[in-house]
Amino acid sequence: KAMVIITIGMAGAGKSTFVQRMNSYLHSQGSPPYILNLDPAVTSTPFEPNIDIRDTVNYHEVMKQYNLGPNGGILTALNLFTTKFDQVLGLVEKRAESVDYVILDTPGQIEIFTWSASGAIITDAVAATLPTVVAYIIDTPRTTAPATFMSNMLYACSILYKTKLPFILVFNKTDVQPHDFAIEWMKDFEAFQQALASHSGTTDDEGEPTYMNSLMNSMSLVLDEFYQHLTAVGVSSMTGAGMKEFFEAVEASRTEYEKEYLPELERAR
Ligand code: GDP
Repeated sequence: KAMVIITIGMAGAGKSTFVQRMNSYLHSQGSPPYILNLDPAVTSTPFEPNIDIRDTVNYHEVMKQYNLGPNGGILTALNLFTTKFDQVLGLVEKRAESVDYVILDTPGQIEIFTWSASGAIITDAVAATLPTVVAYIIDTPRTTAPATFMSNMLYACSILYKTKLPFILVFNKTDVQPHDFAIEWMKDFEAFQQALASHSGTTDDEGEPTYMNSLMNSMSLVLDEFYQHLTAVGVSSMTGAGMKEFFEAVEASRTEYEKEYLPELERAR
């Protein structure tokens, strides 16, 4: 049975490039994926999606007709598409017999998917039908500052707790910046706190702990718990490095989905 990979990431993290890389990697493995594009505003994709939101809704027309700005337009287009999602899911289910992976590419403005009713409906519907994993794409070179790293992790954390799905942190662009610093910070919270302190100072002029430092101390427990619930891999969507490890993590998520997500789902029914 096919696995669904929902790709999520901040604009510029390299989500489109990563989807393209998964596509070419899977082709080279003799296992072409089934790709869904859910971004109505994307002008061109470097891959040919099998199902494309742009075939159903015209984002520019939606903006004009409802007198909306770009974000409102994307959200409304996604809402309109979601009303037809049962049909889409029907198609995906049929194809899931013959492919190994279904890839969902989400809108470039991350919050439109992660914090909208439509995003939740699509995610839940997919995850109730097929084993599903979230791939959260991170711009590694832009997350080397400890405070940025922390805010990125907290964002990932909020998505994990919202979807409750198996979750893979994908540190992208390792050709520019290796991700070993991130792995170290995730494994060793003290190392992270030290990095943070040397960036921002642990005490203020009076020798009192700074706001940032006390925030960090209380946050450490939350993040430590969070890190235990996910897998991190480093990839370069540019060179293709790390793709084998990524798909190993995806396969490991299948077990997690079956052991943890599915029983929870059945209990809720
Ligand atoms: P998206 O907005 O998340 O879809 O990001 P894009 O896929 O459009 O990528 C944003 C920029 O990052 C583009 O200039 C890409 O060429 C670049 N990029 C993406 N992945 C990599 C990578 O692995 N290595 C490097 N060096 N650049 C990358």
